[in-house]
Amino acid sequence: MPFDYAPAPESRSIVDIESNYGLFIGGSFSEPSSGEFFKTINPATEEVLSEVAEAGQADVDAAVAAARRAYDKTWSKMSGKDRAKYIFRIARLIQERSRELAVLETLDNGKPIRESRDVDLPLVAAHFFYHAGWADKLEFAGYGPDPKSLGVAAQVIPWNFPLLMLAWKVAPALACGNTVVLKPAETTPLTALAFADICQQAGLPPGVVNIITGAGETGRMLVEHPNVDKVAFTGSTEVGKAIQRAVAGTKKKLTLELGGKAANIVFDDAPIDQAIEGIVNGIYFNQGHVCCAGSRLLLQESVADEALASLKRRLTTLRLGDPLDKNTDIGAINSSMQLSKIEELTASGEAEGAERWSPTCPIPDKGFWFPPTVFTNVTQAHRIAREEIFGPVLSVLTFRTPEEAVAKANNTPFGLSAGIWTEKGSRILWMANQMRAGIVWANTFNRFDPTSPFGGFKESGFGREGGVQGLGAYLNVEDPS
Ligand code: NDP
Repeated sequence: MPFDYAPAPESRSIVDIESNYGLFIGGSFSEPSSGEFFKTINPATEEVLSEVAEAGQADVDAAVAAARRAYDKTWSKMSGKDRAKYIFRIARLIQERSRELAVLETLDNGKPIRESRDVDLPLVAAHFFYHAGWADKLEFAGYGPDPKSLGVAAQVIPWNFPLLMLAWKVAPALACGNTVVLKPAETTPLTALAFADICQQAGLPPGVVNIITGAGETGRMLVEHPNVDKVAFTGSTEVGKAIQRAVAGTKKKLTLELGGKAANIVFDDAPIDQAIEGIVNGIYFNQGHVCCAGSRLLLQESVADEALASLKRRLTTLRLGDPLDKNTDIGAINSSMQLSKIEELTASGEAEGAERWSPTCPIPDKGFWFPPTVFTNVTQAHRIAREEIFGPVLSVLTFRTPEEAVAKANNTPFGLSAGIWTEKGSRILWMANQMRAGIVWANTFNRFDPTSPFGGFKESGFGREGGVQGLGAYLNVEDPS
């Protein structure tokens, strides 16, 4: 039974949301040439938060031209030391405005304030601090004595970690001397627009960062623009493949960070209580809208019953509801479209014979919600074991031997992350070597750090973000991954 908590809502009065936003091009906001705007809503209440400009081809052209001018005239000529000053300033402003940004992120995205405040925002600032530190030390990064920038970077990001994905893209690009045109996701543009304001506040030279809002079509125009030198995309594998096809044969350098279907593997010698926390964090963090989520739980057969019973007990204590309440564990699903996708895939799980379980949990009347869900009796052939659900849905499978765990974990077209829970260090090292996954966590899950490279194998994409390896994606050098 969940304890009764008095509501502890974070105040939304700290954010000022404009009734509409233009495009941030060449250092100032302008009306879109299309004259079109679209609504962005709070997925927890369906309240319209603002109207945001829809960038068309002329706007994309203008943004790329502004980035090119800033690159040629200012940014590529500036010393690393001076670039670092701007990036440090941005990092400090993010820290100063972190409460406002956390509330804004929660309103536009639906994620619990506890997560935007304690995970997203600290990591956003950390990414800028970390990369500010690199800006004047690139010659020591292992890419030769004088590594060169690429030029204009076109960056398209998803809705699950809107400001954090922006930080992952913008910070290394600027540190390495590139200028940027970034398109946030249609459902979560507001923190990127607040970031535009931060760029102005930091006195960043006009055109170094340009933010253009719009839907998938705007993203397509941006990545296909002939005058960009680098494309960085995070999102679905399907769109990633389309971008790879569009970029093929051009000189654009490409980084793709796509979907995942990670195995979280629990051996019988694992500390079960800790593992349960790791499983919960692995799949229910951010409503499961996480590309590296531990969406396939692999339990060693001898502890499967005990672990499942503990997991279900733990899930009954999770609180779903108002994302602005500091007690909330599970927030809103980001959009009605994503909710339909989760509903469709979970229905297929039941139709294919898996057993579905959710704790009793009241669902608010308005907004988009999905309770934490566990599927047992899952086979590897089920869609819920193969496809990325991107929701709070866990598929449980079992194994007997480490070899079987490896075979099952790797039996996926994806290869982004994996988790291993065991007491034995030797087994961790052996397993980590066997995993076809870009990130392997041991006795923890969903830990992020700007010093640590993040990226995938197979259909999870290529290129790395973060760490010294991530710098290579924004320099005119061979990609190290
Ligand atoms: P998309 O891949 O469609 O969206 C990611 C970003 O790409 C958004 O900014 C989107 O714009 C933009 N985009 C869409 N089409 C194109 C295109 N042809 N060229 C360039 N950019 C484009 O993901 P969805 O939001 O549709 O989510 C669908 C599924 O993708 C999810 O259910 C989930 O499984 C997976 N996903 C994976 C993510 C990850 O981190 N790996 C992140 C998000 C989703 P816009 O949203 O404005 O239309």
